[in-house]
Amino acid sequence: MTNPLYDELFGIHAGKDTPFLHLADGEVISHSAFLAQAGQFANLLDQESIAPGDRIAVQVEKCPEMLALYAACAQRGAIFLPLNTGYSGEELSYFLDNSGARLLVCDPAKEEALRPHADASGAMILTMAAGQGSFLDAAAQLPAEAKTIDRSPEDLAAFLYTSGTTGRSKGAMLTQENLLSNARTLAEYWRFGPQDVLLHALPIFHTHGLFVATNVVLLTGGSMIFLPKFDVDAMIGGLPAATTMMGVPTFYTRLLDDPRFTGDLVAHMRLFVSGSAPLLAETHTAFEARTGHRILERYGMTETNMNTSNPYDGERRAGTVGFPLPGVELKVTDPQTGEAVPQGEVGMIEVRGPNVFKGYWGMPEKTAEELRADGFFITGDLGRVDEDGYVHIVGRNKDLIIAGGFNIYPKEVEDVLDQQPGVLESAVIGVPHADMGEGIVAVLVPKAGESPDIEAIKAALGDVLARFKHPRHFEVLDALPRNTMGKVQKAALRERFDGVFADRATT
Ligand code: AMP
Repeated sequence: MTNPLYDELFGIHAGKDTPFLHLADGEVISHSAFLAQAGQFANLLDQESIAPGDRIAVQVEKCPEMLALYAACAQRGAIFLPLNTGYSGEELSYFLDNSGARLLVCDPAKEEALRPHADASGAMILTMAAGQGSFLDAAAQLPAEAKTIDRSPEDLAAFLYTSGTTGRSKGAMLTQENLLSNARTLAEYWRFGPQDVLLHALPIFHTHGLFVATNVVLLTGGSMIFLPKFDVDAMIGGLPAATTMMGVPTFYTRLLDDPRFTGDLVAHMRLFVSGSAPLLAETHTAFEARTGHRILERYGMTETNMNTSNPYDGERRAGTVGFPLPGVELKVTDPQTGEAVPQGEVGMIEVRGPNVFKGYWGMPEKTAEELRADGFFITGDLGRVDEDGYVHIVGRNKDLIIAGGFNIYPKEVEDVLDQQPGVLESAVIGVPHADMGEGIVAVLVPKAGESPDIEAIKAALGDVLARFKHPRHFEVLDALPRNTMGKVQKAALRERFDGVFADRATT
């Protein structure tokens, strides 16, 4: 009689008074105190007749209680469905209807606004925030001992909706084995142990903060400095007590922008991990120059958990996402034929392994489009494997530019632009062009206090890039639009600069 996810991540810590969460106000929550609350939550789910397989939608601000609800769902076999706190009521209706959630747990401040949406889709509503809410009040009356429901590794544990920058968001169905296999692999690959203290400033509605960070710490019995969100002051304050940190690239660039972030501050640290968006090679280099640490970059996604990682020992190569993780198969294929391309050539990245999800909830056609019958998932990322086996991500397939019949991979152009004097970073997009199909637009962000010389940049491109890859239009912005996970929102840029070639048929 077992429940692998609950037993391995949570149950094993029963009775341990070691710290699990260090909160910003100095409070420390031990593993046993955390489990006691999770047990009360599990009893509340039972009391509300939540059955195994029922979906629990959770839209609450990051707090320890939200993790305890994750534990409670695992214990009762319910499906944990965390949602981005930025979603509006209208958007929430979609998730409730699409998932058929039985219960919505939301922020007390949003209850009134969200109740009509919950009612319309037939979900119960309870509230939760740090230390308060009707869910906590009801659970506080219940015993901490709860019955653990039997589950198998193939049972569903969580739905994570894709960030869906185009089209509707899809509910990725993740099994216990998807989550556990990845946590085991990462814990070993990155050498996590009970002595580790992870500085955690990521959101916990996303795979990075919830599964990569939290599951690895839970599996190995370590602890986390649990910050409500990224804040440079709080990070600088937390680093001295941490041994490891996981972040999106913007965490690293913002830390580097602060003079208090010194080599001395982090000399004791064991590991810095980056992912969810590309880490600029320049950031990697600047970080090493400042601290002596080489950031370890890895690559994954909602549907697959983590796929590749730079090595713990071995060379952490800037601008790459390392090697396929143990147990993960990765191939690069021709988007048209699906056949593997020769090593070194760019194509679609496909992955297979125990980490890969079971499909999109209620969307068999979408699932069939992206998940092959042989188990390979077509990630939608374009990449290549270099001669040493390191995987390079070149961009999303949908960001590929086709101008005058030629394929242009934005990353290749961005890498050249990023090296130009005065340029901090860039984004290259394709927008409609009467002659060429798509015309290439370069969006540049200047380094602080500098203004890049566009004419000089145009001239410099001539030396390194074939002419068909040259941007025909340049824009300068203070910052690139990014989502919470630090991903550049190219769709927003395409929309914004949609008409720039409208009256210039021959540029
Ligand atoms: P999400 O499902 O929100 O986690 O987004 C997954 C996508 O983020 C991937 O398909 C990649 O396009 C991108 N991504 C994640 N990690 C990296 C990385 N290290 N470098 C480049 N892109 C990444």
